[in-house]
Amino acid sequence: MAQQGILIVVSGPSGTGKGTICRELLRSNPYLKYSISATTRKPRTGEVDGINYLFIAKDQFKTMIEKDELLEWAEVYGNFYGTPCRYVLDQLNNGQDVVLEIDTQGAMKIKDKFPQGVFIYIIPPSLDELADRIYKRGTDSLESIKQRLSCVSNELVQARNYQYLVLNDEVPKAVQKIEAIIAAEKCRSERN
Ligand code: 5GP
Repeated sequence: MAQQGILIVVSGPSGTGKGTICRELLRSNPYLKYSISATTRKPRTGEVDGINYLFIAKDQFKTMIEKDELLEWAEVYGNFYGTPCRYVLDQLNNGQDVVLEIDTQGAMKIKDKFPQGVFIYIIPPSLDELADRIYKRGTDSLESIKQRLSCVSNELVQARNYQYLVLNDEVPKAVQKIEAIIAAEKCRSERN
């Protein structure tokens, strides 16, 4: 049987650049698998169903919860998000490393189920820059921007529950750090 893959969980406040970091990480390390979350949020311009998210209706999401098809789920900024079980478990059992980009509530649920996972929190360079990024991204309504910014300090407190903190001052540097974390994790004696 193949050795279990590593579950890599990446979180951070909205606008911290974790999406860009994960995209770049996956582009330069095609062996990593990305878990596509299900969400009841409406797609933003440019987002594609089945690539960025599985965009589903609330009742479909409820059915997934009832059928125990989600490894974790959470309500974030008024929408539901969840990690479909099947893909993640299949990949891990095949020895593939899987990246989850999820919020802190979901990450803590994953930590309970997979204490051997690798938990990485992306820190924004400053709160001003964070606000600036969310505004400039131009993909969220004013109401959603306000809601996201009001959650930032509470979100940042959660960083203490993660094993690794990665500052996103420059994307390539942050990606390199995550690559180094994964490489180190693969050498841990408990995994070998
Ligand atoms: P966004 O709407 O900006 O794409 O995502 C909002 C938040 O939901 C982000 O913090 C993102 O990491 C989180 N998120 C995305 N997918 C999941 C998921 O499957 N589970 C949980 N718990 N959070 C998720």
